[in-house]
Amino acid sequence: MEYFVIGMSAVVLLFLTYRWQEGRRHSAYSGDRLKQTALLERRLAELEGQVARLALERDEALRTIESQRMAQEELDELTRQNYILHEINRAINTTVDEGEIVTIILQAMVTLTGAESASIILFDGEDVRIVSHCGFAEGEPESLSEAFRESIAWQVLTTGQPFIHGDPGEYRRYRPSLANYVASIPLTFIKEVIGCINIHSMGPRYLLTPSKAEILQILAGQAALALKNASMYHQLKQQNEYFARQAVTDGLTGLYNHRYFQQCLQELMKERPVTLLLFDIDHFKGFNDTYGHPCGDEILRQIAHILRSQLGPQEVAARYGGEEFAVILPDADLRRGIERAEQIRQAVANFCFRNPDRTLCLNITVSIGVSEKLAGWDKSRLIEAADRALYRAKEQGRNRVCADLDREMSVEAG
Ligand code: GH3
Ligand code: MG
Ligand code: MG
Repeated sequence: MEYFVIGMSAVVLLFLTYRWQEGRRHSAYSGDRLKQTALLERRLAELEGQVARLALERDEALRTIESQRMAQEELDELTRQNYILHEINRAINTTVDEGEIVTIILQAMVTLTGAESASIILFDGEDVRIVSHCGFAEGEPESLSEAFRESIAWQVLTTGQPFIHGDPGEYRRYRPSLANYVASIPLTFIKEVIGCINIHSMGPRYLLTPSKAEILQILAGQAALALKNASMYHQLKQQNEYFARQAVTDGLTGLYNHRYFQQCLQELMKERPVTLLLFDIDHFKGFNDTYGHPCGDEILRQIAHILRSQLGPQEVAARYGGEEFAVILPDADLRRGIERAEQIRQAVANFCFRNPDRTLCLNITVSIGVSEKLAGWDKSRLIEAADRALYRAKEQGRNRVCADLDREMSVEAG
C-alpha cells in the first residue's frame, strides 16, 4: 500500500512537474506573440505611411502629366499659329493686289480666332470702304454711312484705339439687326490709320481670349503693311505712267509732242511702209491778231479734238510745232495718205470753231502736205518731202492737200 501511495505520489509529482514546465513554456510563447504583434502593427503603420506617400506622389505625377499635356497642346497651338502667321506673311508679300491681300487676311482672321466672320474696312481719311463685311446688305451705302458713324469701327478709325471685347454679354454695340463687333483693331501705318480689321459674332457665345486678341493685333500689323505697300505701289505706278505720258504729250493740245513724233516715226519706218501728213493752219497769225492769243490756243485745242475724232486705230497724231501738226499713217501708201488728208482737211473746213466765251463760230482751214517713204529714205527725207508738199499747198492757195511731187509723178506714171 505504501508503495502504491509512493508510486501514485511520484506519478502526481511527475504530472505536476510536467504541467509546471508546460505552463512556463506557454507563458514564454505568449510573450513572443505580443512582441510579434507589436512589430506587425509598426510595420503596418509604416506601410500605410508609404501608401499615403505613394498616393501623393501619384497625384503629383498625374498633375505633372496633365500640365505637360496642356503645355504640349499650348505649344502645338502656338506652332500652328506661328506657321499660319508665317504663311500669311509669305502670301501677302507675293502680291500687290488689294483683293488678294484682303482675302488672305480675312481667312487668317477667321482661322486663327475662330470668329464667325470678319471684315476689313479701308479708310483714306475721308471715305470709308468696307472691302468685306458682315451684317450689311450689299448696295446699301446710304444707310451704311448713317449707321457707320455710330459704329465701333468708326470709333476705332477716328481714335486709332483698338476695341477688344472679351465679355460676350456686352457685344451688342451696333444696330441689333447687325453683326456684333467682338473686336476692331486699327490698321496703322506710321501713325496713319488706314483702316481696321474686325471680327464679329452673330450670337453671344463667342469669347475672345487674350491670346486671340494678341494674334489679331499681329495680323493687323501685317495687314496694314501689306495694304499700304499695295496702295503705294499702285500710286507710284500711276505716277510713273502719268510722268511717262507727260513726257510725250503736248501740254496745250494733249496730242503727242514733237519728241515722241520723231521717235515714233523713226521706229515705224524701220519695219513697215509709212505715209506722213504734215499740216499747217492757214493765216493763223491773222486769227491771233484779230481774236487774241487765247482764242488762237482754243482753236489749236479744237484742231486736236477734230484730229482725235478722225484718227484710225494705228494712226498717230502729234503737234509738230506752233500751229503745225503731223499724222503718221503706218502701212499706208501715197494714195491712201491723200485720201486721209482730204478727209481731215474737210473735217476742219466744216467745223465751227468757237472762241473761248463761245460767242463766235469761226472758219479755219488747213493746208496739208503728204509724203510716202521711199526705199532708202530716213525720217528727215520723209519730213522734208511732206514739208515741200505743204509749201506747194500754201503756194497753190491754201485749204488744200498736196502730195510729194516726185512720188506723185511716179504714182501717176505707175
Ligand atoms: P500761213 O497760212 O502761211 O501758214 O499763215 P500763218 O499766219 O499761219 O503763218 P505764220 O507761220 O506766219 O504764223 C503762224 C502763227 O501761229 C504765228 C504764231 O503767233 C501762231 N502760233 C504758233 N504757236 C501758237 C500757239 O501755241 N498759240 C497761239 N495762239 N498761236 C500760235
Ligand atoms: Mg506755220
Ligand atoms: Mg500757218
